[in-house]
Amino acid sequence: MAEKILLVEDEEKLARMVELELRYEGYEVGKANNGRTGLGMALSGEYALVLLDIMLPQMTGMEVLRRLRRESAIPVIMLTARDSVIDKVSGLDSGADDYITKPFAIEELLARIRAALRKQPAAPAVQKLTAGPLVMDVDRHEVTVNGQGVDLTKKEFDLLQHLLENKGRVLSREVLLDGVWGFDFVGETNSVDVYIRFLRSKIDESFGVKLIHTVRGVGYVIREE
Ligand code: CA
Repeated sequence: MAEKILLVEDEEKLARMVELELRYEGYEVGKANNGRTGLGMALSGEYALVLLDIMLPQMTGMEVLRRLRRESAIPVIMLTARDSVIDKVSGLDSGADDYITKPFAIEELLARIRAALRKQPAAPAVQKLTAGPLVMDVDRHEVTVNGQGVDLTKKEFDLLQHLLENKGRVLSREVLLDGVWGFDFVGETNSVDVYIRFLRSKIDESFGVKLIHTVRGVGYVIREE
């Protein structure tokens, strides 16, 4: 499901540009052009993250942030027009997760959004992930196939967890790199292929199962047999 981002920004041109880019990246976007409306929307529980301008009509971004933090831990990235140390310090003191100075490159904003969303504590919901005979116990960091333990390195475990959390969905190399290695990873996208080979050897080949599938030209997917 697409994550929903709230954009509180009164500069219409900038807001439209950011909205288009976010939608293009697959996010849903809600917009408010003043602080008061923005605060109400941010408290609605519908959004995964808030992009909050500082200079806003009706209620400043700082005031929105202060009030928001009384009730909500939603990630907030401040958009500031000035590269002012005071703004940054008071924004971070008031509970902002990050800030970005206008004008910004959209790629930088997207990277910060991904980082802020990743910092969110994972929901303590399902701690066992399965695919056919494979069971992953996330808390105990254990993987079994037909009840037999599989010895995985940390990266292999993370990659497998990512695939299992998205069971049935084909994930591109870029998505896997971003999810497992982080957006600041510097290197070759073939790291993903290398680790997929490790997983195949330890799981599919060792146990005679077929769980990890290649979708040519697209990426990888875990499917139950
Ligand atoms: Ca403004």
